[in-house]
Amino acid sequence: MTTHERPLDSVLETIGQTPLVRIRDGPQGVRIYAKLESFNPGASVKDRIGRYMLERMLERGDVTAGGTIIEPTAGNTGIGFATAAQQLGLDAIFVVPERFSVEKQQLMAALGAEVINTPTEDGMDGAIARAHELADELDDAVVPQQFSNPLNTEAHYATTGPEIYDALDGEVGAVVAGCGTAGTLMGIARYALEQDPDTVVGAVEPEGSVYGELLGDDREEGEYKIEGIGTHNVETNELFDPELVDAVYPISDRDAHDELERLAREEGHLVGSSAGAASVAAKHVAQEIADGELDATHDTVVTVFPDSSERYLSKGIYRSFEEWSS
Ligand code: PMP
Repeated sequence: MTTHERPLDSVLETIGQTPLVRIRDGPQGVRIYAKLESFNPGASVKDRIGRYMLERMLERGDVTAGGTIIEPTAGNTGIGFATAAQQLGLDAIFVVPERFSVEKQQLMAALGAEVINTPTEDGMDGAIARAHELADELDDAVVPQQFSNPLNTEAHYATTGPEIYDALDGEVGAVVAGCGTAGTLMGIARYALEQDPDTVVGAVEPEGSVYGELLGDDREEGEYKIEGIGTHNVETNELFDPELVDAVYPISDRDAHDELERLAREEGHLVGSSAGAASVAAKHVAQEIADGELDATHDTVVTVFPDSSERYLSKGIYRSFEEWSS
């Protein structure tokens, strides 16, 4: 279904229309599909918000050509924003907590962006605070704020959601996706619930993340290795709307790691740890539908594989679980 069949004018036009591929390791009678977001030019789901958010912000006059965007990011957002900024005539600065992968930071720099590191122990909150300090110091600088900007959700409502429905002719029983900012899941969920208010919506977070508390679940905060999803502080994640979500699935580092290895070995998918976690949760939801524990309008579960394992080779993603997680 990838539909870039005509010549294109710019790399930005290659964003989206990613393939939706069947995952075969599911229960009898329920189909699972994954949207392969590594097919985007910056090799992640975040290219979508890079283009969508910056185009809308320029249209609205939040920033003008020649200005600067400054964003706290774990990396993939930086790559997506760096590509869009470059093509739309904006400078880009990214504030990245040190623990995130060097590959992503090198790619942001290769795209012409400036990368500033903040201490790992200050977490994303530290990166967010630093981004705002920098924006105050510069003229015509703006922080797109992927954690609170509704344009993030809107990007997926306008693109990812409709692409999934078109590919499956509307036969979608459940949507399941990892939540970092939660823009991906919220955008798809809003679109899905408009098509069919009974669509099951499953959020995915690492064990140690606390999104589940927003649905009244008990959570114990802790560290995790899965990259790109989860939160330690729901206050900084304004996009997650518990009203749209049926359940939040906490996935362990070990289960995510085992699954990303299986996806490579058996299904040919080279995906990051957040995709491993999403796949575990999607299979769980599929099993619940198969067992009649979950009522879905269609026997089809759709999930999102946000990025590729190549981005984490230096972090030992394909080494043993013990080595990767130590
Ligand atoms: N997986 C990876 C690898 C990511 O970089 C991100 C973005 N932080 C996500 C999943 C989650 O996407 P979202 O921010 O839209 O919830």
